[in-house]
Amino acid sequence: MTGLRVLTLLLSVLLGWASCHPVPGRKNFNKLLLISFDGFRWNYDQDVDTPNMDRLAREGVKAKYLTPPFVTMTSPSHFTTISGRWIEDHGVIHNMMFNTETQWKYSFKTTQNKTEWWDNGVLPLWITAQRQGRKTASFHYPGGGAKYKGEAVQRSLVESYTHPDSNETEWRENIDIVMNWFTKEDFDFVTLYYGEPDNVGHKFGPETENRRVIIQQIDRTIGYLVEAIERHSLTKNLNVIITSDHGMTTVKKEPNVTEILLTNYIKFRDLVKFDIVDYGGFGMLLPKPGQEEAVYQALKNAHPHLNVYKKEEFPERFHFAKHQRVLPIVMYADSGYNINGRLIIYFNKGDHGFDNVHMDMKTIFRAFGPDFKKNHIAEPFDSIHIYPLMCKLLGVTPEPHNGSLAITQEMLVDAYDHLSSYKHSLEFLVFVLNRNPNLHLYLNTHL
Ligand SMILES: [Zn+2]
Repeated sequence: MTGLRVLTLLLSVLLGWASCHPVPGRKNFNKLLLISFDGFRWNYDQDVDTPNMDRLAREGVKAKYLTPPFVTMTSPSHFTTISGRWIEDHGVIHNMMFNTETQWKYSFKTTQNKTEWWDNGVLPLWITAQRQGRKTASFHYPGGGAKYKGEAVQRSLVESYTHPDSNETEWRENIDIVMNWFTKEDFDFVTLYYGEPDNVGHKFGPETENRRVIIQQIDRTIGYLVEAIERHSLTKNLNVIITSDHGMTTVKKEPNVTEILLTNYIKFRDLVKFDIVDYGGFGMLLPKPGQEEAVYQALKNAHPHLNVYKKEEFPERFHFAKHQRVLPIVMYADSGYNINGRLIIYFNKGDHGFDNVHMDMKTIFRAFGPDFKKNHIAEPFDSIHIYPLMCKLLGVTPEPHNGSLAITQEMLVDAYDHLSSYKHSLEFLVFVLNRNPNLHLYLNTHL
């Protein structure tokens, strides 16, 4: 046998081995579960024991923290995660749907079934993946109950009005349901949403024992998830991303601070046609015709912790104000201040909706599964980059988006690294054969 024939044989053996051992997530893409725990601030696991989250950090990826888009609010932020678009592009600009003509406002939960609020021409990943042959489902995830260009998510459960946020038994049942979707019905991509720790953070405040208790419940649920994945034999073909939509900060109240009350500075009846206020640290006004300048001048220096802009002058870095739904006067308060309108009717002890540069608004990103590196700490990144990562994991060609895979792909065990290592092995073999006549002879004799 000549050296060339030996090499040819070795090459065919190696390539044959590679072809019958496909790298996971490439030829056969792994399944993906995206879980969101609403309002999970980036450091909530640092003042309470979270053994299951700690274990996942060792067995997967943990970002130092994740920056949500402005406005740091549930529906807008979740829709950025699932679409990879800034809020001013996808148009879900608030938790509440509203109509400035009829003056109607719909709550967060009512909005979940309103296709007209969600479907603004940007396709969420469920629909894009379905169009490319993947089977997708949404379990309580914001936006999962709407239709997009006439197309519904194949399986969608929408939270009922009376749904309890913190029933641990129900949390586990929901995991079992999702596991059965993956194993018995062969779903490829499922999004699962939990309303905690947001609810507790609002009600009691983030720096409380109640919040620490709910974080321990979430940690037990994550432990249950890992067991359920093993029980359903999904360990080798299910990737999991655990994330959230925003953080939480303690609300500042009288007598410690002077609260913001807009009616101290403007007469609503005379100047304002429609308003979105009394909803945390963010607000918008539609002045009556011809009153825009008067409203702006009256408010812009009214309170030292209130930031007021004309829509067209709202800072670009927020990627928020260009959408047509955004009203002409846009306001956000400094961290912890609520924007009250006509009177103070606001009871939250914790809130979000503030500038996303504040650490209290930052949230979490964890991931594990066959395509993720182990014991890997990722630098902080914007949640908009989760979308291209999910597309890569699912083998789905993304829609146009504002994210970048370059930010997140370093957390993956990349197949191309494997292929290039095969190539380097072959090059090394040629190198050795060319320089070692005895080995050459040995191979010629024994092959
Ligand atoms: Zn939220």
